[in-house]
Amino acid sequence: MKHLILIKYGELTTKKANRKVFINMLAKNIESLLKEIPFKISKDRVRMYIEVEEQYLEQVTTKLTKIFGIHSIVICYPTETNIDSIKTKALELLKGKVFKTFKVATKRADKSFPIPSMEFNNVIGGHILKNIDCKVDVHNPELLLTIEIRKEATYLYTKEIKGIGGYPVGIQGKGLLMLSGGIDSPVAGYMALKRGVDIECLYFESPPHTSLEAKNKVIKLASIMNEYSGNVKVHVVPFTKIQEEIYRNVPDSYIITIMRRMMYRIAERYAKMRKCKIIVNGESIGQVASQTLTSMVVINNVTNMPVIRPVACLDKLEIIEIAKKIGTYETSILPFEDCCTIFLPKHPVINPELEKAILYEKSFDYETLIEDCVKHIDVITQFENNKNQDLL
Ligand code: ATP
Ligand code: MG
Repeated sequence: MKHLILIKYGELTTKKANRKVFINMLAKNIESLLKEIPFKISKDRVRMYIEVEEQYLEQVTTKLTKIFGIHSIVICYPTETNIDSIKTKALELLKGKVFKTFKVATKRADKSFPIPSMEFNNVIGGHILKNIDCKVDVHNPELLLTIEIRKEATYLYTKEIKGIGGYPVGIQGKGLLMLSGGIDSPVAGYMALKRGVDIECLYFESPPHTSLEAKNKVIKLASIMNEYSGNVKVHVVPFTKIQEEIYRNVPDSYIITIMRRMMYRIAERYAKMRKCKIIVNGESIGQVASQTLTSMVVINNVTNMPVIRPVACLDKLEIIEIAKKIGTYETSILPFEDCCTIFLPKHPVINPELEKAILYEKSFDYETLIEDCVKHIDVITQFENNKNQDLL
């Protein structure tokens, strides 16, 4: 008999007007992330059901725990909608389990079923008491048996697996994530995905000053993020010339300020080309000189596009905790140098002045360089359910 996985929606049940759009998007995301597995999906306003052979149950469940828009995942055991079958199935389900107290919760979606829910709790509860050595505890049971009575079948379950919540990826359109090899930006990307923003990644590389390993690390991070999306791409910006020009022409203390203004200019231009509505990055207030509020003002000044900084108000330890949870931490701490670190001056300015930044930028023709840079951005990866996982 086929197994049934019941999916309870996340936050989307509260958005009444958009519910249909949300549900359809979630179904589409599930279909795309499970595309190598045979399954059947059906949905209604409050639930989604996935029918799958037992052999795929674990694989499907694991994948579902990484799909945004899901509040919980329940593996259900189906039986016919009649009292005897439900009794038999209930015992079958509980027999191997260890528990001293239990409670039955019946949900009667099929109102033509002759016994009201409360009464049916007693019928099944009584049957369990007669056959298994245990007690009823309605307030704090060790085991909760839920019975959903529907016309086509009745579903029994005891375990609810927590989903990751959020909105289905893509519901908000796309954002361009400035993805470095650090800890912060993959976490920022994950958090944006969680709010339904589809992510494309932009990585600035400066060969030969930065290595191939550094780039592969970024690709690996993107592939981990792709487990939560299925759509992640990495675009690589050839940033060497601009960085060298900055290094040659700009006073030491402003190198990072100007470099980041160039990154934002490129990101904005490219975001528009890729139809991304926002820029997302891993800046965190006060973390380094370029992330003081004054620095952010001067750097942000080059773009009108919204820049979303999901980790702006988190402590480093909080960011690390998320990085560990989502699986990016181990890769992020690999020791390859990024373009931000190789040209790092001894004393970067903490309170830069906009007028000075503009003045220093006039010392070289950055417009032409940026244009050239954007033309040569390389889309190196389109992930297909993490076939690119083992690049490192
Ligand atoms: P760490 O976790 O070590 O702080 P980081 O990636 O946050 O690493 P920062 O120097 O703090 O590095 O940079 C702030 C943000 O700027 C990053 O989170 C990222 O969004 C963006 N950024 C920095 N370097 C690059 C790069 N080479 N390519 C793309 N984005 C970058
Ligand atoms: Mg950082």
